[in-house]
Amino acid sequence: MEQVSTDDLLAWIRLFARLVAENRDALTELDAAIGDADHGANMHRGTTAALAAVDGAAPASAGALVKKVGMTLVSTVGGASGPLYGTFFLRVGTALGEEASVAPADVAAALRAGLEGVVTRGRAEAGDKTMVDALAPAVAACEEALAAGRPWAEALAAAADAAAAGRDATTPMVARKGRASYLGERSAGHQDPGATSAALLVAAAAQTLAGGGAGG
Ligand code: ADP
Ligand code: MG
Repeated sequence: MEQVSTDDLLAWIRLFARLVAENRDALTELDAAIGDADHGANMHRGTTAALAAVDGAAPASAGALVKKVGMTLVSTVGGASGPLYGTFFLRVGTALGEEASVAPADVAAALRAGLEGVVTRGRAEAGDKTMVDALAPAVAACEEALAAGRPWAEALAAAADAAAAGRDATTPMVARKGRASYLGERSAGHQDPGATSAALLVAAAAQTLAGGGAGG
């Protein structure tokens, strides 16, 4: 039976860190328009530290690896996004549990738990112009694909497409959470930085969690 291994999860974190590094300046530019121009630096600092914390450390389990990522993000990323991404990974890691590998349906459930952690912590709803607008459709698309009996790789690809569409949909939105909300109507017309980094996270998942050593 198809399983997501601890190595697959490590590849996910590695690719996310690489995509954040490659998009660091773009994330900062987006945050310069409606925030304080630090999202690229925040995420780059956090994902670099998180990867260093788990790379080559032979984590005991899938959950332990992802929880370590969450703890590192909480302690290294300031601002709104650090605690929110940290909570996401802590919840995902807790839900993944202490096995070395996890079935796709359980990974999907763990991603749902991570999203719920972000929503509980940040209290953002759909349409508030935040990372939730990328994460929530991604988790829903993944669940729907699995429920329809589609292969895991297709569920992940559907999640990545939904995250990208959700990210794009933030552009016309008026921000109701975070710094961008201080701008009121003037926040409209700009893509949300956190939704943009969240779409990178899901894109990285789609390239790594289906196994086969992709990504990295
Ligand atoms: P800060 O806003 O403190 O400078 P960042 O620039 O690193 O932190 O992150 C900004 C991103 O955080 C926003 O683009 C948005 O997606 C996300 N964000 C802010 N507040 C919330 C919230 N309450 N819930 C979910 N996401 C949020
Ligand atoms: Mg900022």
